Amino acid sequence: MARKILVTSALPYANGSIHLGHLVEYIQTDIWVRFQKMRGNEVHYVCADDTHGTPIMLRAQNEGITPEQLIDRVWHEHKADFDGFHVAFDHYGSTNSAETKQYAQDIYRKLRANDLIETKSVEQFYDPVKEMFLPDRFIKGECPKCHAKDQYGDNCEACGATYAPIELINPYSAVSGAQPERRSSEHYFFKLSDARCQEFLSAWTQGTLASQAIPPLQQEAANKMKEWFEAGLSNWDISRDAPYFGFEIPDAPGKFFYVWLDAPVGYMGSFKKLCEKQGLDFDSYWNADAKTELYHFIGKDILYFHSLFWPAMLQFANLRTPTQIFAHGFLTVNGEKMSKSRGTFITAESYLKQGLNPEYLRYYYAAKINGTMEDIDLNLEDFVARVNSDLVGKYINIASRTAGFISKQFNGSVSSYVDALKGNEILFGEFIGAENEIATAYEQRDFGRAIRKIMSLADRANEYVAQQAPWSLAKQEGQEQKLQAVCTMSLNLFRILTLYLKPILPTLAAQVEHFLNIAPLKWSDTDQVLHGTINNYSHLATRIDPKLIAAMVEANMQTMAPAPDSHSQVRHAEAQQHTAESGTQTLPSPQPSPLKGEGANVVAIAPTISIDDFNKIDLRVAKIVNAEHVEGAEKLLKLTLDIGEAQTRTVFAGIKSAYDPATLVGRMTVMVANLAPRKMKFGMSEGMVLAASGEAPGLFILSPDDGAQPGMRVK
Ligand SMILES: [Zn+2]
Repeated sequence: MARKILVTSALPYANGSIHLGHLVEYIQTDIWVRFQKMRGNEVHYVCADDTHGTPIMLRAQNEGITPEQLIDRVWHEHKADFDGFHVAFDHYGSTNSAETKQYAQDIYRKLRANDLIETKSVEQFYDPVKEMFLPDRFIKGECPKCHAKDQYGDNCEACGATYAPIELINPYSAVSGAQPERRSSEHYFFKLSDARCQEFLSAWTQGTLASQAIPPLQQEAANKMKEWFEAGLSNWDISRDAPYFGFEIPDAPGKFFYVWLDAPVGYMGSFKKLCEKQGLDFDSYWNADAKTELYHFIGKDILYFHSLFWPAMLQFANLRTPTQIFAHGFLTVNGEKMSKSRGTFITAESYLKQGLNPEYLRYYYAAKINGTMEDIDLNLEDFVARVNSDLVGKYINIASRTAGFISKQFNGSVSSYVDALKGNEILFGEFIGAENEIATAYEQRDFGRAIRKIMSLADRANEYVAQQAPWSLAKQEGQEQKLQAVCTMSLNLFRILTLYLKPILPTLAAQVEHFLNIAPLKWSDTDQVLHGTINNYSHLATRIDPKLIAAMVEANMQTMAPAPDSHSQVRHAEAQQHTAESGTQTLPSPQPSPLKGEGANVVAIAPTISIDDFNKIDLRVAKIVNAEHVEGAEKLLKLTLDIGEAQTRTVFAGIKSAYDPATLVGRMTVMVANLAPRKMKFGMSEGMVLAASGEAPGLFILSPDDGAQPGMRVK
């Protein structure tokens, strides 16, 4: 009987581009879904952009647009990237939808009716300039443990310590640079520490409830849950204060659901939209007694949300809980974290723009995915070698070496069933007989095992072609029938390999179906054989040119211009991050405009000074933590600079004509740190930023090389 299955991938945050790290998840889910559909199961695959929270709100403000405009634009970008990699959602929605809002509020009301919501006053940092409470990741300061500067409010990247933001020494707002104040406000909590939740979750995560036929978590994830239980579950803060882009909490004016409350509810909202489009029965997938299956594919970094908060929300709102949660590891590139400075923080768009075949990446990822939470590595050299040898050298080779004879010598006609299989029953049986092993590997998301098996079959097929040598048969008199049979047999094997690879290579499989003149392959078609005529073989796949890979890496280094938001350095703890960013960012040097009349109107060099004179100037590497327009000032920007001191410096710099302040935030530059403070009309200026200018138009602030830290002396 066909299974009824609802599948989701985690919702990408509507604040940045899809990169190759994200694609590990979407490609893997898509392969699994396509496999299930080929098996004849009723599968619905939904996803949505995750659109709420402070980072979205601030980014929209910085771009001078509404959050709705921002998330609409990003939705289209994300959708194009997914389409480009053949990730075929049945519905791709947005959490900012009426459906998601309704379900989020319903769930909340049910939790409240179940006495699982409480309020408590929480003291938090407040940015008096921006007039908003600051999420942990929008506060920076000195680590209370190791005293590293510029650490985020929740953990230190230098020593790894975790702490509360109020423990930071000399904290400042990463939004405005202002000194934050401590203020209290009422927060809403989901009482996870309630005995009912504890009892339910400790059984649910280990799969011991009577309603659970299979464990919901991978063993390593279940073990992780045990550790978390031992540490004790605390109540979960689900509210945020206005201003906040999100859904208002019922009966709590000015309070909004924390983005993580409504993000997983987005699975329901998106599925509801699909139900409306296709007339599906929503309740049979979400009611507490639903008999359908529900699977969430996620990154291991968001396991906590999906294995604790989410099942508890569902259970106590009287809804069904997930059948299984499939967590996967992160992507590394060439064995290291993805890095912007190395050009390995590769966007989906840049891969496609190079003209690289998206199915090659699908194939490579599939070869590496094994259903565990281990990280997978995209080694770019190995990627080229593997695709060229497996897909082109082994798989496609079978058709390219045999199809031409059928077209040219037999007018496209293949041999009869009997003729083609005669003497080849064992080999053909081996191909059909692998079906169960390959299906099991797909079912278990061990795509690597499926590919190893498929490629071993491809080797067998190539051995067959080599032994039978159709090219010499073609030269011999009276061997026509044998030649036709050998080529037909080869194409039969090629057909079965195509069927097995189809979840991974859907468009290539469609081309093969056209070439072989057969109906779209279903999993149950393994034992069919070709008959009638086939179409002319046209080139199915080309080798990857390593130059394209080099160009892609280069392009990802060049697109390092700061993002249009001024928070390129502020990471988004509120958003799920599938692949941790390395944090290393090469900062762009402005491109100097070509000098006209070089050497003509050179300004005379200043009088000679001694080294002692020079040493009087204390030049420091400064990080621009904030940059803003100054009301009423025609030329000035107000810069907040970090030079490694306890306090940031304020400098008014005459660079307004050359820079949009949003593009400066996060950049490193050089300042004169011991210039006497100057009282200006708009406030005190505590130093000077160095910039180059000349006869030619333009003004260029200086940048140190990558790696320089705030406070380093320039000499
Ligand atoms: Zn530290």
